Amino acid sequence: MMNAYDDNNIFAKILKGEIPCDKVYEDEYVLAFKDIAPQAPVHILVIPKGKYISITDFGANASPEAIKGFFEAVDKIAGEQNLKNEGFRSIANTGLNGGQEVPHFHLHILGGKKIGPMVSK
Ligand code: 5GP
Repeated sequence: MMNAYDDNNIFAKILKGEIPCDKVYEDEYVLAFKDIAPQAPVHILVIPKGKYISITDFGANASPEAIKGFFEAVDKIAGEQNLKNEGFRSIANTGLNGGQEVPHFHLHILGGKKIGPMVSK
């Protein structure tokens, strides 16, 4: 597993404003933007503003306020994107077996159609 946060990962650069993103939501806790390679009509990435590598790092080391703020933002984004009635999928790929490519915790939000099987076989 990765254990030191890489300040030069692509989402760190997006947070610092060094790389642009198609922003859909921002508050003091999170930034949310469209995935550059969308896999559904709606494909948004929600990232905490703090430096957390993974969902486990975030859960273990973020403050209660940051964790609450993160999930309240997910709720707001789902509402703003009209995903609440028909539903959506959220995914947090973690580490090698999870296929995580970017080592800054992010929640994928996928919707706008039936997303299909939970995992590929
Ligand atoms: P992971 O496999 O780490 O869960 O997913 C990383 C996601 O980030 C991928 O879905 C990929 O398309 C997306 N991504 C990678 N680089 C960029 C970027 O520079 N901008 C945006 N908006 N998305 C990116």
